[in-house]
Order: sequence, then C-alpha cells, then structure tokens
Amino acid sequence: MRNLLDTSKCKYFSPTFDNRECSYYKYSEGEGFEQRDWECGFCTRPEQKRCIADITRPIPLSHSSVEAFTSCHYYYYLTRIIGVSVKNEFLGSALKAGKLWDTIKQVHLGASISIKKVIEDYQIDPMTVAKVRGLYHAYKELGIEVDEGGELQAKVDLKLNVKLGKNDFMPTVNVGKEAINLWAIRETQKEQDEHYWEFPLQVTGFYDRKYPTYFCEDKLSSRPENYLDIFQIQSQNGTYFLADPNLEYCIMEVVQFPQLRESKKKETTPEEMYKRVFDDVLSRPSKYFIGWNKETRRYGKKYYRNEFNLEMVRKRYEQIAVDMMSARWTGNFYPDWKRCSNKFPGIPCEMKAICTTGCISETMYEIKKN
Ligand code: SF4
Ligand code: SF4
Repeated sequence: MRNLLDTSKCKYFSPTFDNRECSYYKYSEGEGFEQRDWECGFCTRPEQKRCIADITRPIPLSHSSVEAFTSCHYYYYLTRIIGVSVKNEFLGSALKAGKLWDTIKQVHLGASISIKKVIEDYQIDPMTVAKVRGLYHAYKELGIEVDEGGELQAKVDLKLNVKLGKNDFMPTVNVGKEAINLWAIRETQKEQDEHYWEFPLQVTGFYDRKYPTYFCEDKLSSRPENYLDIFQIQSQNGTYFLADPNLEYCIMEVVQFPQLRESKKKETTPEEMYKRVFDDVLSRPSKYFIGWNKETRRYGKKYYRNEFNLEMVRKRYEQIAVDMMSARWTGNFYPDWKRCSNKFPGIPCEMKAICTTGCISETMYEIKKN
C-alpha cells in the first residue's frame, strides 16, 4: 500500500525511503499481532496516540468513543486521537467507587484481579473503600445469587460496513506538494468500477457478564435511575444486542451507591462508616439492590431485545463514522462549550483544565497509547 497520509496535517511527518507512511508510523495490529492496514495507524512519538495525518482509514468505534464524539468533538480528539487521559488517582470519587465495585464483583464471580492493586492505583480514599466494602459484605450476607456459566468481560465484536456514495464526499488530501483525490486512489487501487467507497467499521467493547441468550451489566451509581431509563442505555445495550443475534434480553444489575454522610458532631472512622453501610443495606436491601427479590435472592431489571431500536443504533454508528471521517479530513473537531461544566448532570468535563489553559499538565494527565 502506498503512502496515504495527508502530510500537511502533521509538522513532524518524516518520510521513509520506500515512500511508506512515516518513520514514526506504526500499523495497527490485531490480537495475534497481525497487521491491520485497513485501520488508522498509531504514532510512536510520545506526545500522541493515533497518526493525525492518516485520515483515510477508519478508527474502530466503541460505545464509549461514540459517546465521547457525540458529547464534544474536541473531547474525542483529545482522548481518542491524542490519547489524553486523566491519571487514575485524579479521577472523580464516583468513578473510583464504580471501578472498585466492578472489580470486587468480578473477583466474587471468579476473576483473578487484585483488589488491593486497584485501590492503590486509583488511590481510592478510605471512606469510599469502607462504603463499597459494607455494600459487598451485605451482598454476601443477603446470599445474592447469579446464574452459573456466565463469561466475565466477554468481548463485543460488531462489524459493520459503511458504504459512501461517490457523490457524497470528494475528499482531497495533500501528499507532499501534490493534491490527491482520494476517490481516484481508492478506485485505482481496488480496480473496481462501482462508484462507492466501502470501509469496514469495527465496534468493540465488553459485556460485564454474558450467557448464551442474555447478558448482565453491573452498575454502581449515586443516580441509579440513569441506568434504568431505556433512552440512557439505548446506545450501549443496543450495541451489545446488535453484536449477537442470539441475545434475547439483558439484566441491568444496578446498585445505589451509599449516600450516608459522616457525622458532624464527631469524626467518623472508615470502620464506623463500613458498619453503618452494612446495617443500612441489610435493613432495606431493595433501596440498594434495585429490583431485589427476597424469594429468588436476585436483583436487577430486565429489558428485552425488542425494546431497543437496533436499526437506529446501527444507522447511528454508520453516520457517526462518516462524521468522524469528515472531522478528520477537515481537522475541525470543534468544541461543544455547553458540555464543559456539565458533561454529565452537575459534573464538569475532566478536560476542562486543558481547554482553559491550552496546556496538558503532566501531573494530572497522561498519554495512553492503548
Ligand atoms: S502523527 Fe503521523 S505523520 Fe505525524 S509524526 Fe506521527 S506518524 Fe508521522
Ligand atoms: S472542556 Fe469543553 S470543549 Fe474541552 S473537551 Fe471538555 S467539553 Fe469539550
């Protein structure tokens, strides 16, 4: 394959003798290290993740990257192309608590993960640890059961084919001094007569727990109602249904994060908080384990496949893939300022410090290559 980079997009472009991509360029690889030359490659320079000049090959989507793009295009650019990520220890306490609950539940169901290491890596404060511990010990005391045979963290692998009509887009890129029409290149390369440009689109992710005909999603939240509203889970769960036609329903195992406050009169120790949470959960389990059923010793809310508009989820992916390509062609990942202070209700965007100062602080952020 010849060089298809738009070299005008990157001032660090460094040509290679064989006129392949760039000396910093690294092809994307599959799980067996096979080269995926149909996918946008990576940059080996430490400052960024994806090659910003590789604007003709698609970047695989996941539910979370689509949410990133639709929430703010500039957020997608920072997090998925440059690869900026908030260091674990600087994440908000709600995210840390969710991560801890997720880990504890996976370990309870047989996964081999170090809970201690998660607490250390994320620097989770003792009071949050005490609350999640109290919740988990109440979970065990209640004798909560799940069906056996579920696969933990099963891979979501949805393949779609996006087909653009020739007249829809006529992208032109600058390769060296030459302006090249990408349609011409593609058509010559493929030696095809039809006037369409097709490219594969891979949507990836993970089911928390997957069975042959259903899957379960674990959530710990201060606002459980967010995960029980079909509109809020349409995109994620719809993707999971689309990826496997055998799935008939899903169970949202949503848990209320304990809202108990520390005493104002005297200092509350983590051990006291643990005990209070444990007692409170046991005294009213249905408040914490949404959909709790004393007879079956289970909780969660069931949603059936036909409650999701799968055709719309598929079309949404296809259009978003096109929108992303177009933003990569123009380089115009515009910011959505309405989201800066309100990425989720009441929660500011974690990239705000970067957008305010124009600098990426090495104390708070890191570049994640994967
Ligand atoms: S972004 Fe692409 S063109 Fe720029 S230095 Fe990296 S690999 Fe080379
Ligand atoms: S701070 Fe605002 S503009 Fe910047 S990435 Fe977040 S939402 Fe987008």
